[in-house]
Amino acid sequence: MVSLKRFTDEVLQSAIETPQPDPEGTMVVAPAVPVGARRIPREEHCLSRRQISSGALQVLNTLHQAGHQAYLVGGSVRDLLLGREPKDYDVATDARPEQVRKLFRRNARLIGRRFILVHVQFGPEIVEVATFRGQGESAEETSERSASGRILADNVYGSLEEDAGRRDFTANALYYNIADRSILDFADGLTDLQAGRLRMIGDPEQRYREDPVRMLRAVRFAAKLGFQMDAAVEAAIAPCRDLLLEVPSARLFEETIKLFLTGHAQSSFDLLRRTGLFAALFPQLDRVLDAADAESARELLRLALEGTDQRVLLGKSVTPAFLFAALLWSALQAQRQHLEAQDKPANVALQQAAAELLEESRGRVAIPRRFALPMREIWDLQPRFTRRGGRRPYALLAHPRFRAAFDFLLLRQQSGEFVDHPELAGLGTWWTEFQEADSEGRKALMEQARREDAAPEAPLGPLPSNGLRRRPRRRRRKPSRLARVPSAADDASGNGTTG
Ligand code: ATP
Ligand code: MG
Repeated sequence: MVSLKRFTDEVLQSAIETPQPDPEGTMVVAPAVPVGARRIPREEHCLSRRQISSGALQVLNTLHQAGHQAYLVGGSVRDLLLGREPKDYDVATDARPEQVRKLFRRNARLIGRRFILVHVQFGPEIVEVATFRGQGESAEETSERSASGRILADNVYGSLEEDAGRRDFTANALYYNIADRSILDFADGLTDLQAGRLRMIGDPEQRYREDPVRMLRAVRFAAKLGFQMDAAVEAAIAPCRDLLLEVPSARLFEETIKLFLTGHAQSSFDLLRRTGLFAALFPQLDRVLDAADAESARELLRLALEGTDQRVLLGKSVTPAFLFAALLWSALQAQRQHLEAQDKPANVALQQAAAELLEESRGRVAIPRRFALPMREIWDLQPRFTRRGGRRPYALLAHPRFRAAFDFLLLRQQSGEFVDHPELAGLGTWWTEFQEADSEGRKALMEQARREDAAPEAPLGPLPSNGLRRRPRRRRRKPSRLARVPSAADDASGNGTTG
């Protein structure tokens, strides 16, 4: 992140030291600087209108021309000043949602319950327009709070200054004014941006109590931007982290996705563990990862997160189903072993362990069904990789979830999960070769597998943590089944690969 910081410094410094003529035309007269704000005129900062998306620019201009205040704010200003491409554009205005809607008519949609916003759509781009929010006494009086102080509903409008005070981090409270292209800085956010420092506006503990998700946002911005959390920002997490339990589990799922599927999964994970937030989100998993013998479980997670970051970097798709399959895998193993120790048959133990894990997660990070189902399929297919006789490998290849399940098998192999089980050690490699081989090659591989007699009853393959017992019984295959392995019928079905 040194390079990013250096870049930031250079961008900001050069803008401040070498004022340039405004390349964007004549400026209008600057409005009065709001109380408590530092105004950075256009020639002293590097954010140019040309960097702003056309949709956001259209929203800003339309609001301005209609006589309203219109500012670009939040992550877009922050990211543009850092030389990064913003994920989305947020606009703050004094226009009420209904006024905004009228200006953009068919393109606009009112959304939200906690706070009404307007989404203005231009093709695939959605610009979020929020009316300035109020704070302080008026918000105290009119916002609805839970017993712990969490704000449940706060449809309170306010001034620009109040709006700035309601934002979370100083670097997120910079306002780009379309009227004169200056930036308004209410909380010394520019200095923090330059220093790579994540500082809370107001008292961190109080701000976490109002909205515990801000703790996850702190971790996310620190991970994504390579910023240092201010000592107070980090210290206030410990006394507040259990407040995450009060947050609706669907919102926690959304935040988890932003933490793990947007290219900074590894650093997010490290920070979540360091701050204890990981334990609040995934208590079962946190316990498993702490165990001294959970070496391969930790490694599997590390590889999964590294692989995810790599895919995001390369612009490849990433799916929550695979991520959660990897995240919860070791907790699943621990639970399954626990149930097997109570003499539950392997397949029953697996199904029950998965169901229990999902049930437990419903109260924390709820995984929606559309991701939970494929996640379970990835798990359910794992035992099938050990069965390499007859038509089974072909049937598995043709399974719609084969690719994800196979990638998962490779993760397990790479993590060292099979290290104490030589008969499984080469399973991932065998399947890699099987996909690439022609029909003769496949026959040979199946013959090799038959010779290895790769523990056909092994339910999921073992996990060293918690000392999984291998089943002592090793049934020998019946000759009739062996005879079927390299049959002619297999040749015909050899095109079922999804690889
Ligand atoms: P990114 O879009 O890159 O994830 P962002 O900072 O734009 O980052 P958003 O969730 O889009 O994050 O929110 C836009 C802005 O709204 C933030 O920059 C911040 O000023 C404010 N904001 C969002 N969520 C909160 C919150 N929970 N508490 C206080 N302010 C918030
Ligand atoms: Mg944003």
